[in-house]
Amino acid sequence: MDFSHRRCLLTVAATAVVTAAVTTVVTPVLFARSTTTPGNGRDVRATSVILINGDGMAAAHREAARLYLAGLDGRLAMDRLPVSGQLTTSPHDPSAAVTDSAAAATAWATGVRTYNGATGVDVDGRPLAVLGQQAKAAGKSTGLVTTAQVTDASPAAFFSRTADRSAQDEIARQYLTFSRPDVILGGGEDWWLPRGTPGAWPDRPAEDSSEGSRGTRGDLVEQARRDGYHYVSSAEQLASAPRGRLLGLFANEEMFQQRPEGEGDVYAPPVDLATMTGKALDILGSNRKGFFLLVEEEGVDEFSHHNNATRVLQSMRSLERTVEVARAYVAAHPDTLLVVTGDHECGGLTVENTSDTDESGSAPSTEDGPFPVHGSTLRFVMDWTTTGHTGVDVPVTAEGPLAELFTGKHPNTHLHDVLARALGI
Ligand SMILES: [Zn+2]
Repeated sequence: MDFSHRRCLLTVAATAVVTAAVTTVVTPVLFARSTTTPGNGRDVRATSVILINGDGMAAAHREAARLYLAGLDGRLAMDRLPVSGQLTTSPHDPSAAVTDSAAAATAWATGVRTYNGATGVDVDGRPLAVLGQQAKAAGKSTGLVTTAQVTDASPAAFFSRTADRSAQDEIARQYLTFSRPDVILGGGEDWWLPRGTPGAWPDRPAEDSSEGSRGTRGDLVEQARRDGYHYVSSAEQLASAPRGRLLGLFANEEMFQQRPEGEGDVYAPPVDLATMTGKALDILGSNRKGFFLLVEEEGVDEFSHHNNATRVLQSMRSLERTVEVARAYVAAHPDTLLVVTGDHECGGLTVENTSDTDESGSAPSTEDGPFPVHGSTLRFVMDWTTTGHTGVDVPVTAEGPLAELFTGKHPNTHLHDVLARALGI
């Protein structure tokens, strides 16, 4: 990046900081301001990127959350980012017009559209350069934080190359041998340990007897320790973990129970996404060459598959709090590009008035609700058309260096191109 362009970006970033400063940010994490070079007062840190993925989140999910959490005249933190645009999400799959999370994240991580199920490989199965590994090779710190398995499709596409997203033990192995993210926080302990080694999270727990260690690549937790990772499995251990390489696994699989509605569905992660994100930023932010952090709330997608609006709204609240943490970081570090979007829509969701003559109670697209509009006596319902993904656009909002490039409507590969430019790749 030449200096004049850099100066232009700083002006954009300063505008973003002013915007952030007038919003109310509630966060348990306080971030120190970026240091500047004595003499010229100019921040010389390289650009960092925080990408926040509300898996399965599109416009209706954001609007339902806005009504529920902020009210008719309110705005979510994710919607207050100064730049917005739209992304299309179609994969390059010979048998599908609508994407899954693996193909969508591969488009983000590589700039190449591919088939559903692929992480970091093209439609012919050839490995591609992935942003998570490229950022590390460029001297930046990298991290991934998710309420899914840390080896689930979205993070996997940024930090591994596999022909099949279900090979989560192989994806974990590639984290340790190929992409080496500095911070790995989320669920999915089952894939890091061989059968018969339960680990911190017992096999066949009462809440889901199908869970249990199933890795085929050896004891990867032990390998991570040997490679210098500090390993944690509880909120207390996470809070006291030192700065440095960090692996935290807080569930056997996802950090919530995605069972059918009313049959043991629970959204109560042992560590919330905002807390994990704050810890990751504290560690990654110490690298003056910058960092790349992928953050994902998986509950939006999984509970949309179950047409479970109550749990979707809980997941959206978690995501919103996480965006507040990220915005507080960006306010103190204007060299950071923050992007909030979803990889695709899930559920064919829409937001409706309550109506006695509508389809409430009729299968298969039963409405959920009514839910109260925050600060109002009005109520709304959330109506589903499918238990799968749909091909509608996803909103993208952004602030920081290069954020203005998200204005307009673009294919999801555009997100890759902007992030790669921001990271100097
Ligand atoms: Zn899904």
